[in-house]
Amino acid sequence: MARLLFTGKAAGTYDPISGLKNRDELSKSLAVPTTIFMKQVHGNTVVIVDEASNNLFEADALVTNKKSIALAVQAADCLPLLLQSDGVVAAVHVGRKGLLNGVALAAVAAMQDLGAEQITGVVGPHICGSCYEVDQVMFDEITQIHPDSAASNRRLNLFAGLVAQIPQVALTKMNICTLENSSYFSFRRGSESGRQVGVICR
Ligand SMILES: [Zn+2]
Repeated sequence: MARLLFTGKAAGTYDPISGLKNRDELSKSLAVPTTIFMKQVHGNTVVIVDEASNNLFEADALVTNKKSIALAVQAADCLPLLLQSDGVVAAVHVGRKGLLNGVALAAVAAMQDLGAEQITGVVGPHICGSCYEVDQVMFDEITQIHPDSAASNRRLNLFAGLVAQIPQVALTKMNICTLENSSYFSFRRGSESGRQVGVICR
């Protein structure tokens, strides 16, 4: 059974300069030697992590089957997705672009390559389908491909889109909207540059 956690604003930020101490605290919380972060670029690159490394992987999904490594995803409105199965875990950053480029599908495929069978997932605090308003072009672009992500009045429900994109994964979510709940960092609320994290390890 994997161990995982999601942080809020109270736990601080995790940037590579001021947040290093918080990164260490994460590893202690999960009782692992190392927590690996990524430089997230809204792409669909998946990195298989098989040893502790100081490399900052440019990716939006990390996968590992090593017990000694925890994987972190940072988010502030986007969906922090943590995936687990017998022996393989993943941390995935899914925003509007990530839903379009299939980063979660790529992460699931990478887990299956490592032998994962039954995969479950949980999405941490993110902006909800009542709050995530986009312009008409963006709305049309994503809802034509992912109709389930259409909420009313040009709003997007990215979680619903993700559920439809990876039906082979039993997916649950925390009912916390980052824009509505000021205990969490929200990119859209503005004036805050922080990110919370989701972290998972075997
Ligand atoms: Zn909301």
